[in-house]
Amino acid sequence: MDIQSNLFSNDDITVTFEPEICIHAERCARELSEVFRTSVIPWIKLEGTETDRIINQINRCPSGALKYCRNTKKAS
Ligand code: SF4
Repeated sequence: MDIQSNLFSNDDITVTFEPEICIHAERCARELSEVFRTSVIPWIKLEGTETDRIINQINRCPSGALKYCRNTKKAS
């Protein structure tokens, strides 16, 4: 699987997922199923809820497989 398929962005953040680190506890899917889906591709749907909720859930990932960074805003 190439890196692009594990990289997801909305206007605010970019989320990365490292499958080799994931311990498959499925905490993300259980606790925020609007975003982290087990049976649909792409499995992360950032449009599912607000960015702050996604960040909170990523911070609860026990393995560190999910990470995020804030997108830099373009000066307008
Ligand atoms: S919460 Fe983290 S470790 Fe658990 S299934 Fe999701 S990505 Fe994998």
